[in-house]
Amino acid sequence: MPAGLIGLGNMGRGMALSLLRNGHAVLGFDLSAETRAARAAEGIAIADELPALISACDILILSLPHAAAVRAVIEGSAGVLAHAAPGTLVIDTTTSEPAVTRELACKLRAAGHAMLDAPVSGGPRGALAGTMTMVIGGEAADLARAMPLLEAMSAKRVHVGPGGAGHVTKLVNNLLCGANLVLLREAMGLIEEAGLDVQTVFSGINAGSGRSGVSEVNLPNWIANGAFNSGFSMGLMRKDIRLAAQWMDELDIALPLAKAVAGIWAKSAEALPDAEDFNRIVTLRNPERGA
Ligand code: NAD
Repeated sequence: MPAGLIGLGNMGRGMALSLLRNGHAVLGFDLSAETRAARAAEGIAIADELPALISACDILILSLPHAAAVRAVIEGSAGVLAHAAPGTLVIDTTTSEPAVTRELACKLRAAGHAMLDAPVSGGPRGALAGTMTMVIGGEAADLARAMPLLEAMSAKRVHVGPGGAGHVTKLVNNLLCGANLVLLREAMGLIEEAGLDVQTVFSGINAGSGRSGVSEVNLPNWIANGAFNSGFSMGLMRKDIRLAAQWMDELDIALPLAKAVAGIWAKSAEALPDAEDFNRIVTLRNPERGA
């Protein structure tokens, strides 16, 4: 049976091509007729209707823009619950909402199906090269079943817990990355006030305990050299941090710093368009005012 790939945008396209390159049959579907035609021209077999794909595949990989689209694909009248054969496995690579994921995983399990949440990082380039990182929530047996497909799409896979854990991990990871970028901007201000060179000072910090992924990777590759071409946009980072903020608002725990960081990212929309590189947040002079 082919693997079904639902959502053939920037990420889904690369995943489908990585699967094909590694010898897996793929059947794809996208809501957009234009995208379906473009992917067919690249050699991906396409189903014209979602139910036709769902009934032809026992493993479905989702790469959708948000949780509402995942819900529509699973619960809609043309979706998985209505059309899948018993024992279908859904692998959701969307950056989605943990509570929605847990709810949908329960509904799928009650109907005799299974679900893994496997959000990704690595961007469209990583999807195309099959070098993404996946953080995965779900049952070990379902992960073993999915592994040949996951190995064709990713270089690193970490099983972080039961259903929903992958989406929790992804949101916390991106919140930490966003916080580190905001802190990097403030640290750069301190270093410049002291009349010192930012990169030279960070070569010292990166040998010590103040380092982070942002100081070790983002600063030299995309910030200090002025490239700002990481391939991950302000719009996508703001979406991920907005999801983390919504989740934090539902909780009754003190998160003052995380909430301040989320506020700064939300405000940045006033000065930095969605298409800009996400590292541009370090160029805002007054991030609290979105300027
Ligand atoms: P995209 O907008 O390029 O692609 C999403 C595709 O889903 C579109 O082609 C759209 O037509 C299709 N779609 C929407 N609703 C649908 C439905 N109900 N049924 C079928 N198809 C539907 O987005 P993308 O950049 O490919 O991102 C996909 C997911 O991966 C997002 O959740 C994003 O946050 C996540 N992600 C993206 C990146 C990145 O760098 N682009 C990196 C990591 C994670």
